[in-house]
Amino acid sequence: MRYQNTYVNLDTRLYHEQPPTPLDNPRAGHFNTPLAQQLGWADDDELMARWVDILGGQYVPTAFKPLAMAYAGHQFGQWAGQLGDGRGLLMAQVLDNNDQLQDLHLKGIGLTPYSRMGDGRAVLRSTIREYLCGHALTQLGIPSSNALGFVVSDTKVRRERMEAGAALMRVADSHIRLGHVEWITSFAPDLLSEFTDYMIDTYYPKCRDSKAPVLAFLTAVVERTARMIADWQLIGFAHGVMNTDNLSITGSTLDFGPFGFMERFNPAWINNHSDHTGRYAYQNQPAIGHWNLNIWLPHFMRLEEVTRDGLSDCLAPYEATFMQHYQQGLCRKLGLPHEKDSLTLAFEWLTLLEDNLLDYTNSFRALLGLIAPDEHPYEQQLLATMTAELDQKAQKVWQDWSISYLAQIELVSFEQAINDMRAHNPVYVLRNSMAQRAITAAEQGQFEEVNRVFNLLADPYQVQDIATELDSTPPTPNAPQMPISCSS
Ligand code: AMP
Ligand code: MG
Ligand code: MG
Repeated sequence: MRYQNTYVNLDTRLYHEQPPTPLDNPRAGHFNTPLAQQLGWADDDELMARWVDILGGQYVPTAFKPLAMAYAGHQFGQWAGQLGDGRGLLMAQVLDNNDQLQDLHLKGIGLTPYSRMGDGRAVLRSTIREYLCGHALTQLGIPSSNALGFVVSDTKVRRERMEAGAALMRVADSHIRLGHVEWITSFAPDLLSEFTDYMIDTYYPKCRDSKAPVLAFLTAVVERTARMIADWQLIGFAHGVMNTDNLSITGSTLDFGPFGFMERFNPAWINNHSDHTGRYAYQNQPAIGHWNLNIWLPHFMRLEEVTRDGLSDCLAPYEATFMQHYQQGLCRKLGLPHEKDSLTLAFEWLTLLEDNLLDYTNSFRALLGLIAPDEHPYEQQLLATMTAELDQKAQKVWQDWSISYLAQIELVSFEQAINDMRAHNPVYVLRNSMAQRAITAAEQGQFEEVNRVFNLLADPYQVQDIATELDSTPPTPNAPQMPISCSS
């Protein structure tokens, strides 16, 4: 691999260098071969032969420079003070085949100075959820961390019950969170300037061309965050814990806990059972992104270049960037051009889904069965299932809507519409029930289902033979929700 360990050259107050604490008897869970190839990991015989030992913390290659990062954060709207990597270590930074810098971060690997009350471990169930979710989002085309693989072990971990300890080698373009800056201004403010330079040079080098590089950098973070959240809304993803310590400065999705993919459409949906007020409900995500940035940006006031007016200008594009990206994406999902009439149809369509608790993923995909049934037998079936769920009144609404929609589709290039719809409406997302079936089997030592779901989600926009009906079946309407909490 082409190592580029630069974080370890920063001021030592920013991290603690230490090796992982090994898991007992680590065993292979799953390995992401395409990602290993992208990273150059696959070209190194020793890394390939010893990947289970490395992920289990038994062996640290000499080129790795393991360290726990310090960061802080606002959790559920409250200042939480120092947090930091309490159970993960940045193991190495490498340049991948696309010359993109990637962090290798091993999660579940024992105590660090930042563990607070925790045990430094991660359980198999949450490790599998994170593994499959990073893969799902990446393959859906949404900026996200991914993972090289995971191991399970004989180390026992206490949660609500005793569970098997596991570890995941997370791969992300950066592990710098908004909370890193919050930590610096609280605990080592003299480092802010140097650290800001590091973020710009490493992740936003083009901003150096600007007359005001820091403001250009902050504006770019705002825009990337807005686009990421628009992507979430479009695909129906709810992160679940949008604390400032869980948002990356690169606008890549990071830290999967009580996330979920929308099934029966309900904008007020809360996937995280620990989120009693619904702060992180699906429909609140765009506003929370703004809240986080708004509390983050003033930390840079300490820098000479940054004024209050300058900061307002950085945050101003958030809403327009989000709206542009979201509305355009919504129109593409319907195969329509981005204009007012398309948006009217889109919002009527979402209301139909909401009023009838229809499945978000399947319903969008079903529209291909409406406009081009002969080429889309699977989608025709989805459409039949969808309309069978409508009562008489809703049938009428659907029929009227589909007449207007078909009239609008008439006006555009049919080929373009079909291409857009196939490219933006997945057939498969990671439903909680799918993750749960893979977890249940894995807890019995069977990893075939993890492997099957991994393969299915590798190509989420294509109907696949390895799918079963359960992969596209939402819970029955008003069924009690599967409890997904912060326990991990
Ligand atoms: P999270 O809610 O997973 O984003 O974690 C918030 C903070 O708690 C981070 O500083 C984590 O490193 C830390 N943390 C979470 N679980 C554990 C654990 N089992 N042991 C130590 N630290 C943990
Ligand atoms: Mg120092
Ligand atoms: Mg976190």
